[in-house]
Amino acid sequence: MAYEIDLAGKTAVITGSNSGIGLGIAWEFARAGADIVLNSYSDAEDDHALAQKIADETGVNARYIQADMSKGEQCRNLITQAGRCDILVNNAGIQHVAPIPEFPQDKWDAIIAINMSSAFHTTAAALPKMRQFGWGRVINVASAHGLTASPFKSAYVTAKHGVVGLTKVTALETAKEPITCNAICPGYVLTPLVESQIPDTAEKYGMTEEEAKEKVILERQPSKEFATVEQIGGTATFLCSDAASQITGTTISVDGGWTAL
Ligand code: NAD
Repeated sequence: MAYEIDLAGKTAVITGSNSGIGLGIAWEFARAGADIVLNSYSDAEDDHALAQKIADETGVNARYIQADMSKGEQCRNLITQAGRCDILVNNAGIQHVAPIPEFPQDKWDAIIAINMSSAFHTTAAALPKMRQFGWGRVINVASAHGLTASPFKSAYVTAKHGVVGLTKVTALETAKEPITCNAICPGYVLTPLVESQIPDTAEKYGMTEEEAKEKVILERQPSKEFATVEQIGGTATFLCSDAASQITGTTISVDGGWTAL
């Protein structure tokens, strides 16, 4: 019998999901039948409209809950407000690039809080709910920078390595239950944020946009292709399938060969 991925009856909470990878994951989950909770720190009409669009186009229930992932209490409140939380995707993240001596302390604190500590708080609030319903999936969106480093990204690399550590501990604490925890480690993914850097990079290096993509942005990605948000969403959906029920505590790279180098 072929494994099917049917997430009907499950509720997925995806942090930082009003754009980019988080939104891509939300769409893939909704297409597989899961009810969706979108989140970010803003509370704009557009945020709620996005949830409505997912509901209208896929037929699932979808809503948007505002919560700032830099604040532990709001991370926990998000899970409380969500009601059920069968699938938790810790995806919210920010970046700042500077050498260590010049790295602003407020940026360090924000990156550690949003990219790493938020996953601890949401997981702590979500595990009792998963246990109550006897099934759960925790998926942490880490990065190739959770497995390797680059200069000038001290806070980001530290936070993403921390998330990989948290993934392993969560997996061990739930190993005897029908709950798994894994990290997805994307290389460069074509999100609006990355897309907007292409023209500037081309101008800075006096290259065409195509050259800037291949030679500068994708320098470390041997495939010379960006991953897509649909591919990250597909990987997350697979991790929710029965075929993946013995996959726990691991990292799955979606990085065009970056970490094989
Ligand atoms: P993005 O900027 O489109 O998405 C980040 C999301 O986090 C947004 O929805 C934003 O609103 C949200 N967010 C930021 N601060 C928040 C806060 N305080 N509270 C709640 N939400 C907050 O970028 P993205 O590329 O989609 O990144 C998503 C995740 O994927 C991040 O964790 C990032 O580190 C990781 N990642 C991205 C790439 C890439 O190439 N794009 C590669 C590896 C890992």
